[in-house]
Amino acid sequence: MCTKKIAFLKVKNRNNSVSIGALVLMDELSRCGYPVEICDYKTAFNYTHVLVSMTATDDIYDIFRQCHKNNWENRTFTAFVGGFGCQNPVALSGFIDYAFFGRADGIIADYLNDPEKYYEHSFKLTAPHLVTLRQVEKLYPYPIIYGANKSRWVEKFIGCPYRCKFCHYSHNRNYIGDGIYINNGISTGSPEIMLKDICNLTEKLGRLTAALDGYSERLRFLFGKKITWDMVEDAIDTLASFKGNTYFKLYNICNFPTETEDDEKEFIDFFDDYTSHTKKADGIVKIDIFNTAFRPSLNTPMERSPVRLYPEARRENPDIVSQNGFVVKYTHLAKGAKEHLKDVVSIRYCDKAHIEKIALHDNFDFDLTDYLREYPESEELNFKFIQGK
Ligand code: SF4
Repeated sequence: MCTKKIAFLKVKNRNNSVSIGALVLMDELSRCGYPVEICDYKTAFNYTHVLVSMTATDDIYDIFRQCHKNNWENRTFTAFVGGFGCQNPVALSGFIDYAFFGRADGIIADYLNDPEKYYEHSFKLTAPHLVTLRQVEKLYPYPIIYGANKSRWVEKFIGCPYRCKFCHYSHNRNYIGDGIYINNGISTGSPEIMLKDICNLTEKLGRLTAALDGYSERLRFLFGKKITWDMVEDAIDTLASFKGNTYFKLYNICNFPTETEDDEKEFIDFFDDYTSHTKKADGIVKIDIFNTAFRPSLNTPMERSPVRLYPEARRENPDIVSQNGFVVKYTHLAKGAKEHLKDVVSIRYCDKAHIEKIALHDNFDFDLTDYLREYPESEELNFKFIQGK
């Protein structure tokens, strides 16, 4: 008889729900005969094993705050953390027992029975050591049914083949998949597609999300995202060829190393020119551009790169509107200075006291140099717990 009582924690800043990765593990555990429930920080005490998923590295603040508030220092259960954002979870050592790095599907039941067996991919947070990310060889084979509407999710891709030099997604997951990448957009609310594939769309999406990631061709080619302005033009032409309105959410990265005002001008000029010269649109495309500042992930070729902070790069540009209704709109930055700084600190973690200061008091009153500077190759990174792939 199964004596374990297992639950996945509902994380507040994720719409009070669990992530798709968590749903995959819940599905696998129940197929292995371990039914899994959902708990919150209070009801966690009714279980023997509680799993916590970090989708983004800055989830650490919310988890820290809630664990502190709900007395997880005195927990009666074994707590595990993992997920895509689990890069530097050591500051949670007072609240969580084990961290797992990489994909846990295929072994999750075995891991919960004996976490020490997976020393290569997991550690006790009180005794961290260097780990490798666990990779899988195949996509998760079962569909996941989720949400009130019983939506169906099937894994079609893992990772990305393009290897942009700052990208966690590419450098920390083996790539599996082929064909046109269209994610159903559980996290962004609209289908996500590679910008280069938009010109191959044969059906209108209506709403879609893609990423450009660099103000200029120079920056994009320097850091791995090989998208020319011609490709952007083809993509927008394709969207404009579908009748009716299309909403296009376009992510961009600013504050790259070596970026200058000329790079940004190239970006503005492109959209300005395109908008003022376009005559051929059958449909109206509204482009919302979301800028977020460069913050390289650990275990990527740019992990040692310097980071610049807002507010000096926080600029908002006027919308560009053509006579036939084509609009390029700069949405206010999705992340402000503090949020960006939080991300950077959570990636370049050095000291638990700093995470606690931010999580409990929103206090950034400490020397930031170590979070922002460039790290020479000869220097050992004291915030790095993951090696290779
Ligand atoms: S930034 Fe996008 S295109 Fe580049 S490697 Fe990451 S997921 Fe792929």
